[in-house]
Amino acid sequence: MLNLQAITKNFFLFLSNNKTLDRLAKRYGTRFGVDKLVGGETFSQAIPVIKQLNEDGLVVTVDHLGEFVESESEARERAQEAVETIDAMADNKLDCEMSVKLTSLGLDISRELVLTNMEMILDKARERGVTLQLDMEDSSRCQATIDIFKQLRAKYTNVGLVIQSYLYRSDKDLDELDEYNPYLRLVKGAYKEPGVVAFQDKDMVDRNLKQLIKKHMLNGNYTAVGSHDEEMINFTKELAEEQGIPKDRFEFQMLYGMRNKLQHDLAKEGYTVRVYMPYGMEWYGYYMRRLAERPANIAFAVKGIFSR
Ligand SMILES: Cc1cc2nc3c(=O)[nH]c(=O)nc-3n(C[C@H](O)[C@H](O)[C@H](O)COP(=O)(O)OP(=O)(O)OC[C@H]3O[C@@H](n4cnc5c(N)ncnc54)[C@H](O)[C@@H]3O)c2cc1C
Repeated sequence: MLNLQAITKNFFLFLSNNKTLDRLAKRYGTRFGVDKLVGGETFSQAIPVIKQLNEDGLVVTVDHLGEFVESESEARERAQEAVETIDAMADNKLDCEMSVKLTSLGLDISRELVLTNMEMILDKARERGVTLQLDMEDSSRCQATIDIFKQLRAKYTNVGLVIQSYLYRSDKDLDELDEYNPYLRLVKGAYKEPGVVAFQDKDMVDRNLKQLIKKHMLNGNYTAVGSHDEEMINFTKELAEEQGIPKDRFEFQMLYGMRNKLQHDLAKEGYTVRVYMPYGMEWYGYYMRRLAERPANIAFAVKGIFSR
């Protein structure tokens, strides 16, 4: 039976895909408490925020928001912007990686286009000492994203990938990726997926995430645990301790604006904590998915609306 939480989640996931609302959001700007979850509308606005996080002992990965890229020229523009952002990161000496969504670089248009764009970005990133991580989008794009990752990883060491524990396939994917010694961010998964491809039961998603973390860490690969869930974080800490895995072989990643105290506490304990900071005009889909995950975030939005 659907409970209120499930209804709220489905509602915000439905809104996250609504292109009309996306256009309206762009027109009317960041009025909804969005700055609590987004670093700025431009990378320049995000620079001081990143500097402050670095000073506080946290490292960062930035994500230029934008999911609905429809033309080849738009995808090329996004790639060019990524190249400029990498230069700005290095010029400003930020301790910062970059996360990218392949759809924003032309995945839905052509494989050739996205590969050309990624190679241009990775060449610049390699030159400037920056690492990139490929976010994982919905399950219909999972295989293509993994294939592109493998192709890029054969040529570049500065590229990582995300694997989602709600997908049944992920354990096998991890086995097949092992030969690439990949830098993986392991997450539960943020999209609405059907029962034919994904666990619907939260306990199964959690159990699978623990299994994936364990397998990837025991395989000796650098692991990023992308979760705000203390059960996952404590599991990782205990596993590392039991198995003698040093703190420089894994990290915790959390979204900007979420669980700030936990982020700082972990950093003080000597763990690497990477803050995933989205920036850009196209904050709408991202923001709606965060509202879907955690209805408590709605409080930010309500405050944002009434404080102006
Ligand atoms: C850095 C990062 C990158 C991500 N990249 C991707 C990606 O590429 N693709 C993708 O599909 N998904 C991605 N996600 C989203 C991810 O898949 C989950 O949807 C999201 O993180 C929610 O799951 P969770 O593990 O954080 O905790 P949940 O399962 O949502 O929550 C578990 C428990 O954790 C605690 N908790 C969670 N959030 C909070 C909070 N904000 N404040 C207080 N307590 C909290 C609560 O006790 C809650 O009951 C990413 C997440 C992170 C953190």
